[in-house]
Amino acid sequence: MADQYDVLILGSGQAGNPLSSEFVKAGKRVALIERAEVAGTCINYGCTPTKTMVASAQRAWQARHAAELGIELGAVRVNLEQVRARKRKIVEQFRRSNEARFASGQPELVRGEARFVAPKEIAVALKSGGERRMTAETIVINTGDHPTVPKLEGLSDVPFLDNVGLMELGAVPEHLLILGGGYEAVEFGQMFRRFGSEVSLIERGKHVLGREDADISEAIEAILREDGLTIETGAQAVRVERSQVLTTVHLEGGKSISGSHLFVGVGRSPSTKELNLEAAGVQTDGKGYITVDDELRTNVPGIYAVGDVKGGPAFTHVSYDDYRILRDNLILNAAPGGKGKRKTSDRTTVYVVYMDPQLGRVGMTEAEARKNGRKIKVARMPVTSIARATETGETRGMLKAVVDAETEEILGAAILAPEGGELMSMIELAIMGKLRYSVLQDAVFAHPAYAESLNTLWGHFEK
Ligand SMILES: Cc1cc2nc3c(=O)[nH]c(=O)nc-3n(C[C@H](O)[C@H](O)[C@H](O)COP(=O)(O)OP(=O)(O)OC[C@H]3O[C@@H](n4cnc5c(N)ncnc54)[C@H](O)[C@@H]3O)c2cc1C
Repeated sequence: MADQYDVLILGSGQAGNPLSSEFVKAGKRVALIERAEVAGTCINYGCTPTKTMVASAQRAWQARHAAELGIELGAVRVNLEQVRARKRKIVEQFRRSNEARFASGQPELVRGEARFVAPKEIAVALKSGGERRMTAETIVINTGDHPTVPKLEGLSDVPFLDNVGLMELGAVPEHLLILGGGYEAVEFGQMFRRFGSEVSLIERGKHVLGREDADISEAIEAILREDGLTIETGAQAVRVERSQVLTTVHLEGGKSISGSHLFVGVGRSPSTKELNLEAAGVQTDGKGYITVDDELRTNVPGIYAVGDVKGGPAFTHVSYDDYRILRDNLILNAAPGGKGKRKTSDRTTVYVVYMDPQLGRVGMTEAEARKNGRKIKVARMPVTSIARATETGETRGMLKAVVDAETEEILGAAILAPEGGELMSMIELAIMGKLRYSVLQDAVFAHPAYAESLNTLWGHFEK
C-alpha cells in the first residue's frame, strides 16, 4: 500500500526546498525525496564551493600583484588542502541550515532515489534499505542535472575529473587539461591557473562562452591568456589516452596536448533517466529535459517540473524563481481573487560568470537583438575609462549595452568588469523599472564608485 500525501517533491534542489515549506504552511502533508545531499548541486557541488575557491584564487592573484600597488610580500604559496577545508566548512554550514527545514518532520525528508511506478505513485529505493511507495495528487520534479560525459574515444579508460572531483583535489595539479569552454571551464581554468597549475582549455567552438557576443568572448579569452592559460578554440577532441603520468588529448588535425589531470566540463544532462517518467507519461524533449509550459506544468495534470531538469537557463536564481511561480500559482493566488498568475516568460535572463573580472549579463546580447529585428544602438566602453578601476588597479574588461535606437529602452548588457555582477544588477533594476538609458546617464552616483560608469557608458555609442 502506498502512503498518501498531498504533495511529493522529488529532489532537494533550489525550488523544491522552499516549496516544501510553503505547502506545509498551507496545511498540506508534504514529503521531499532526496537521493544524495540536501540542498542539491548549488550548495554542495556548484555555486557555493566554486565561489569560496574563486575567492582563494583571487587572494593569491592579488598577493602576487600587490607589488604593483607598492606592497611587497614574500613568495605566495597555495595550500590547496586549506582551500578545500574552508570550502568544505562553508558548504557544510549552508547544507546544515537547509537541513534544519526538515528537523520537525514536516516537511518530511525521505532519503532515497525516487522513480515513478504510476502517474501519481512513486517508489523510493531507501538509503537505509528497502523500498517505500508514496502517492500524491501534486508531484513536483526538481531532480536537476549532472555532468555530461561526451562520447570520446578512450575516455572510459582514462581517469578524469568532474566538478565534484576537481574541487576535492588536495594538491595543485601540475598541468590541468580542460575539455569545454563554458562558464565552468572558464571559472575553474582561471582558478587553477591562479593556484599555480599550467592550464590548457580545449573548446570545439569558435570561442569560449559561445553564447556571448564574439567581442565579449574575445575580451575574456584575452584576459585568460594574459593570466597564462593556453586556450585552444575550434579544437575538436577526437581521442584521449593515458600514459603512466600524462593524459593526452588528441585533436582533429593531428595536434595533441598532454597534462597531468583532465577535467571534463562540456555541459550538463538532465537527471531524468532514473525517474522512469514513462510510467507517469511525462513528456521529455530529445535531450531528456522535461517539457513544461510557462507555468511549469508538464503534460500530466498535477505534475510539475522546476529547475534545471526542465531545461532552459540552468541557474540557481532561475530554479528559485520557479519556486515563486508554483508558490504563487498553486498556493498564494490559487484562491478566487488571487493576484494573477506568474510565468517563466515574464522574467529577464540574468547571470554572472565568476571569473575575474566578473562577467555580469542581463537581457539580450547584441546578436539576439539583431536577430529579433530590433533597431538598436550599441555602447562599448573599456574599464580603463572608470576612475575607480584605475585607482584600484583593476582595469581589465569592457562594458557593453544594447538599447532600442528609437525608445532608449535598455535591451541588454554585458559588464566584464570588477564587480561586474553588481553593476549588471543595477542595469537589471533599471530594466525592471523601465528606466531609459538617458535617466542613468544623468543620475547622480557617488564619486568614485564603479556605478559612475553608468553615467559615462552612454557616451560611447557606436556611430
Ligand atoms: C560547478 C558549478 C558551478 C555553478 N555555479 C553557479 C553559480 O555561480 N550561480 C548559479 O546561479 N548557478 C550555478 N550553477 C548551477 C546551479 O548549481 C544549478 O542551476 C542549481 O543547483 C539548480 O538546481 P535545481 O533546483 O535544478 O536542482 P539541483 O540543485 O541540481 O538538485 C537536484 C537534486 O535532486 C536529487 N535527485 C536527482 N534525481 C533524484 C531521484 N531520482 N530521486 C531523488 N533525488 C534525486 C539530486 O541528488 C539533487 O540533490 C553551478 C553549477 C555547477 C555544476
